[in-house]
Amino acid sequence: MGGKKSDIELLKGGKRTDKRKPEDLREIKMEANVVPNADGSARVQFGNTIALAAVYGPRALFPRFMQEADTGILRTRYNMAPFSVVDRKAPGTDRRSTEISKVTRLALSPSVLLDDFPKATVDVYMEVIQADGSTRVTALNAASIALASAGIPMRGLVAACSCGKIEDTLIVDLNGLEDNFGNADMAVAMLPDKDEISLLQMDGLLTKEEFFKLLNMAKEKCLQIVEQQKSVLKKLYKVDKEMTE
Ligand code: ADP
Repeated sequence: MGGKKSDIELLKGGKRTDKRKPEDLREIKMEANVVPNADGSARVQFGNTIALAAVYGPRALFPRFMQEADTGILRTRYNMAPFSVVDRKAPGTDRRSTEISKVTRLALSPSVLLDDFPKATVDVYMEVIQADGSTRVTALNAASIALASAGIPMRGLVAACSCGKIEDTLIVDLNGLEDNFGNADMAVAMLPDKDEISLLQMDGLLTKEEFFKLLNMAKEKCLQIVEQQKSVLKKLYKVDKEMTE
């Protein structure tokens, strides 16, 4: 939502509102298997933004007319809880959540391999329980861990990061103020291990040079984020192995 005017100074002496430098990520916390009923799940926190993801499937898809005869399908739902923002958000689906549900499916689709699950669905639910900017990328990072922990065959993990611009300064991992009042914001998701971009959305204005510089900054951060995702998953399997020994 770039471009709106704010009374708050977003950059002061080179520091952002939360004291970060332009190229700094917020503190990131990740945890897998947080929803025992789900086949896979994760909780990811970027600063004050917290997202949960739960994956169910592969499971039979009903009604039948929605089934694909030769492959499984991926369905995604993104939702922001009414209590996720200070001014209560109206509950339920709106245009924004419909859009984000769609783009997160597109961002995850290049990774999941569902050919072996004809007529089935894999359902990914993403719930933002606290929102302070960059919720779609935080939700995507959680969804990717949740899919992997559900044992869904994947070409690689999907890692995502936001980036943008305040005045002439390029920044990564936008907080809520920066998301709403910065000059531009961009959401990037990729399969870092394949060097493939699976989501790129931009709001606001950037020069061509700024765009490519920002894209590289986001890619570099995705490489960092995917390592954290992998270590959460490795820990999970280490525990499982110990339990079966
Ligand atoms: P993203 O959350 O992916 O950055 P947006 O640019 O649409 O996507 O939203 C920017 C930020 O604005 C969100 O992260 C959230 O902090 C805030 N926001 C979004 N929708 C609402 C809402 N209905 N009420 C209050 N704040 C909101």
